[in-house]
Amino acid sequence: KRDMEFDLEEEVRGKNVKEPFLSQYRCGPLLGSGGFGSVFSGQRLSDGLQVAIKQIAVDRVQKWTRLPDEVNPVPMEIALLQQLSEDGGHPGVIRMLDWFEVEGRGFLLVMERPPHCQDLFDFITERGALSESLALRIFHQVVEALRFIHSRGVVHLDIKDENIVIDTRTMDIKIIDFGSGAVLKDTPYREFQGTQSLYTHSFFSTSPYKTPLSASKFHVVTLLVSLPASLGTRVYSPPEWIASQCYEAVPLTVWSLGVLLFDMVCGDIPFEHDMEIYRACPSFTRRVSKGCQSLIRWCLSFQPEDRPTLEEILSHPWMKAGNDKEEEEEEEERGGLREEHGSLPCQSL
Ligand code: ADP
Ligand code: MG
Ligand code: MG
Repeated sequence: KRDMEFDLEEEVRGKNVKEPFLSQYRCGPLLGSGGFGSVFSGQRLSDGLQVAIKQIAVDRVQKWTRLPDEVNPVPMEIALLQQLSEDGGHPGVIRMLDWFEVEGRGFLLVMERPPHCQDLFDFITERGALSESLALRIFHQVVEALRFIHSRGVVHLDIKDENIVIDTRTMDIKIIDFGSGAVLKDTPYREFQGTQSLYTHSFFSTSPYKTPLSASKFHVVTLLVSLPASLGTRVYSPPEWIASQCYEAVPLTVWSLGVLLFDMVCGDIPFEHDMEIYRACPSFTRRVSKGCQSLIRWCLSFQPEDRPTLEEILSHPWMKAGNDKEEEEEEEERGGLREEHGSLPCQSL
């Protein structure tokens, strides 16, 4: 860990950073590393504030954009966080405090770091499946934070347990990692990044979607698949993304919320393989209340247009009342694991 401290400081020492990073921050040990960067803990020297410092290498940046006052392009992640951090931001979204360019190498992004925080992946790994009341408390905050994010014209596109940090004392959460994010108006379109290959689609001979892809503005018959999935995380991605990278941001987000809620109440994600995602039929490995199951199934509807909006999620009975005691006991007696009646049938292939 000590090596890491020196690595980061070494990297910026003597380089032409936007402002002298080292005179303002002290770097600590590595907090975590995902696919696209390393995140270190740190401290702001002026007031001792605990921060997280994300190191983004130039060659790992997925999307670039321009900021009004900057000469050089910056990673989209920085522009999105800037947009979300303005006017105090939102309690459910990590706030960016500062950023620096390390010329020729990459960027350093300084964020707030909540006290006693852990990402939700580690939290669930340590505790196993969460109680429904805790899952509800977390889920509610995530949905509210996403409403704020969308209201600022931003979409996250990589909602999953690793990209949510939780204060383990208060159970307050914050969404992190906008590295796959985009501006809302740009997202209902097909996006290609990285290497693309032309593939004949092998799963369906005819499109399973209500709106044929060939009727979209792209007029494609053969589906283009970009490899590897550089946007979002495959096991959290909906069937339309797996099939074609053709997606709309809100239904894609809602699908990933279904995966997240399942993950919280069952202790693990519902789907590993593409065929399971296409089937869109989660099988509950633990006792989960009827109300919670119905919300998860709704979010995991095969057809994007059948999924709820964020507002519809918030007004779902389970979100309002949670799982009342009586129902919980009744469920217990009936064995609980039974499939709920009246839910949409799973996609049959
Ligand atoms: P990547 O884009 O590589 O996935 P992330 O931004 O998701 O990087 O950060 C990787 C990990 O670092 C997270 O999963 C989390 O554990 C930790 N982390 C990131 N930002 C913070 C933060 N602001 N506070 C605390 N931990 C953080
Ligand atoms: Mg991440
Ligand atoms: Mg990322």
